[in-house]
Amino acid sequence: MSNPLTRRNFLCNAGAAAVIPAWWDWLRGTPCNASPLGDEAAASPGTTDRIVDMHVHFDEKNPNFIRDFLKVSERLNLTACLLTPFANRKLVADAAKQHPTQIIPFGFVDLDAPDVVKQVEELHAMGYRGLGEMEFVKRPYNDPSYFPVYELANRYGWIVLFHTGIVLRRKFDEPEDVASGRMRPIYLEEIARRFPKITVLGAHCGNPEYEWAAEIARWNPNVFWDLSGSTLPKMQGRLADFQKIFWWSNTEWQSPEWKAKKPDSDPSAFIKIVFGSDNGLDGIESVVNQYHAFFEACGLPAHTRKMIMGGTLAQMLGLPDGH
Ligand SMILES: [Zn+2]
Repeated sequence: MSNPLTRRNFLCNAGAAAVIPAWWDWLRGTPCNASPLGDEAAASPGTTDRIVDMHVHFDEKNPNFIRDFLKVSERLNLTACLLTPFANRKLVADAAKQHPTQIIPFGFVDLDAPDVVKQVEELHAMGYRGLGEMEFVKRPYNDPSYFPVYELANRYGWIVLFHTGIVLRRKFDEPEDVASGRMRPIYLEEIARRFPKITVLGAHCGNPEYEWAAEIARWNPNVFWDLSGSTLPKMQGRLADFQKIFWWSNTEWQSPEWKAKKPDSDPSAFIKIVFGSDNGLDGIESVVNQYHAFFEACGLPAHTRKMIMGGTLAQMLGLPDGH
């Protein structure tokens, strides 16, 4: 089925982008009109740069959510990957068509639902750009029963956002079949390797398994992390420790794929991080500030900051220049 949102508004060779993830072009240096590496905007990081937020949950309880989000989007100059429960798919698909520079629709499906494959096919036909946030799974993420969903995402060249690490407890006085141990960052490595056209995006950087998260990103060009959730508040007094975890900037220990990048590409290990808020509409700005504190503590170069706050996701999603 045609995908007018992608083809009309996001012109980074949408046909190919549906199969080959944008980071592949990026690594290979293939020209792409949305490439933030080497284009003028990337060369001159400024305060007007648009933020791309990987992690905004659609709030079913707020009947005015889209209207409220658009206000925040305008105020913060922010595009959101809107993580949308399957039941709300039509509303968000329509909103994304009306506001394509502000809303990128992502499908929030239950990996254990018996009809999950059909749901994913339908989301793709509706113009959805990826899946997320996967969470509350009954089995570890690398369980073969989930492979049919990953095969589809691989075929579509999608981004898939996975919750990783510690997870909240919803019920305190009833049994629940939920375990953080099924959502460890180590499982994303197998998904990234078996399904190389998926861009695997782990939420919360594996909290607290940051070291595993970082090392998996180092060897897998299709793995990235957001720092949403309790990580940045928890690390507030020791944010510079992230330099020990994302340690390989400007060293020979980058993966072979990273060495093949264009000469002007970013050698910082922190390039494997993207912006994600996961904090409700009122809380997005505070997470922007947390990211800035982290940038300062780790002394990140201006180009790397720009890529984290939006450049990398704009590249992956094929957002037009000046999106
Ligand atoms: Zn999460």
